[in-house]
Amino acid sequence: KKYTKADIQRIVADEDIKFIRLQFVDILGALKNVAITVDQLDKALNGEIMFDGSSISGFVRMEESDMYLIPDLDTFVSFPWRTHQSKVARLICDIYKTTGEPYGDDPRGVLKHAIAEAETMGYAFDVRPEFEFFLFQTDENGDPTTITHDKAGYFDLGPMDLGENVRRDMVLTLEEMGFKIRASHHEDAPGQHEIDFESADAITMADQIVTFKLVVKVVAQKHGLHATFMPKPLSHINGSGMHINMKLKDQNGKNIFYDAQDPLKLSQTAYYFLGGLLAHSKAITAITNPTVNSYKRLVPGFEAPVHIGWSTSNLSPLVRIPTVRGEEALLELRSPDPSCNPYLGLSVILKAGLDGINNKIMPPEMMNSDQLRAISNILSEDTLPSDLKEAIIELSKDPVIKEALGNVYDSYIKAKGFEWDAYQKQVHAWEVDTYTSRY
Ligand code: GLU
Ligand code: MG
Ligand code: MG
Repeated sequence: KKYTKADIQRIVADEDIKFIRLQFVDILGALKNVAITVDQLDKALNGEIMFDGSSISGFVRMEESDMYLIPDLDTFVSFPWRTHQSKVARLICDIYKTTGEPYGDDPRGVLKHAIAEAETMGYAFDVRPEFEFFLFQTDENGDPTTITHDKAGYFDLGPMDLGENVRRDMVLTLEEMGFKIRASHHEDAPGQHEIDFESADAITMADQIVTFKLVVKVVAQKHGLHATFMPKPLSHINGSGMHINMKLKDQNGKNIFYDAQDPLKLSQTAYYFLGGLLAHSKAITAITNPTVNSYKRLVPGFEAPVHIGWSTSNLSPLVRIPTVRGEEALLELRSPDPSCNPYLGLSVILKAGLDGINNKIMPPEMMNSDQLRAISNILSEDTLPSDLKEAIIELSKDPVIKEALGNVYDSYIKAKGFEWDAYQKQVHAWEVDTYTSRY
C-alpha cells in the first residue's frame, strides 16, 4: 500500500490542494467525477460520500440510485496542470450500494472480480498498452476538425514540428503523475501519435489508461489541438489501436509465459492462454472494440487485425508473439482500440485466457505469410465480427465472456443496442454518393 489516510491528509495540507475529484468510470468507459472541497476530505476518505449511481450504467437508468464512493487511496495524485490557482487532486473510487455490497454495474468491480479468479489459480495479470491517437486542429469555435496538424510537413521532423512539442509536454505531465513512459513516437498516419508506458497489474493499468486519456486531451487542448481516441477518424489512413501486451506472473513475480525450451520461448500455459484468447475472440471484440466506428478500423490494409490467428510477424495477426529478450515472453493482442472501457476490456481478455488454461485449449497453427496477406472474404468464418451488431450477437452466444461481465452484461447490451439503432437508421454520405445516380 502506497498511502494511508493520514498521508493523504498531510499531502493535501502541504500542497495546499483545494479540490478533490472522486472519479469512477461508467460502463462505456467515460471518466466521471464528483468534485468536493477539502472540508469534505475526511468524509470522502471514510467512504461516506454518496452520489446518484444511475449515471454509471451509460444511457440506461437504474432503479437503485444512491451509491457510496469508496476511494482507493493508492490512486491519489494531484493534477500538475492546475498549479496556479487552486490545486486539484483525484482519487479513483469503487462503487458500493447502501447495503454495503459492491455495485454490480461498476466496471472496476468487474475487473477486480476477474483478478480475484486469477489469484485463486495462483496468477497475477500483468499488462502494457500501446496507445495510438490523432491530434486534430480545432476551428474558430474550439470544436475539433479532422484536419491533422502535421499534414503538410509529415517528413519535416524538427523543432517546428508541433506534434513533437505536444508529445513531449504529454510525456512530461504523465511522468509528473507517476507514469513510467517507455517510448513515444509519431505513428504511421499524418497527425497520428503513439505513447507507450511500462506494464503494471491490471487494476493499476486500467486506472492509468483512463488517466492517460484525460492527460492527453488536456495537454492537447493547451496547445490548441484536439486529441481523439476515436478508432478510425479518417477512412483512407490507419486507425488507432490500443494493443495490449500481457503475461501471467506467479506469486514470486516470475513470468509463467516464459519457457526457455520452446522455440518461441512460450510455456504450455501461455499457449493455452493464447488458445482461450482466440477461441473467445469474437465475443471479446464486443468489449474491446465497442463503437460502430471500431469496425471501420478492423479492415485489411491498415495494419489492423482481421483474421483470427496468431503469428510472430507484425503484419496483421490478431495476436502477435514479440521477439523475446531475457524472460520477457508476452502475448500482444492487437484488436483492442482506445475507445474501449479498459476495466471491462481487461476483464474479458483475462477471463478468455483463464478459460483457455482451465480447458487446455490449444491454439491453431501459426498463420503463414499468405494467410496474413489474404484479403478477408465476407463469408469467412475465421475473421473478427465486421460490425457492432455482429459482435454483440457473438457476445450473447459466449457464456464464459458473459459471465465475466456479470451484471454489466445487461446494461451493456441495452446501451449498445441503442447505439447500433441510432447509427443504423442514418443514411450515410457513402450511400448517397454511390446510389443516387446509380438508381
Ligand atoms: N495503427 C495500427 C492499428 O490500427 C497499428 C500499427 C502498429 O502496429 O503499431 O492497430
Ligand atoms: Mg503503433
Ligand atoms: Mg503493437
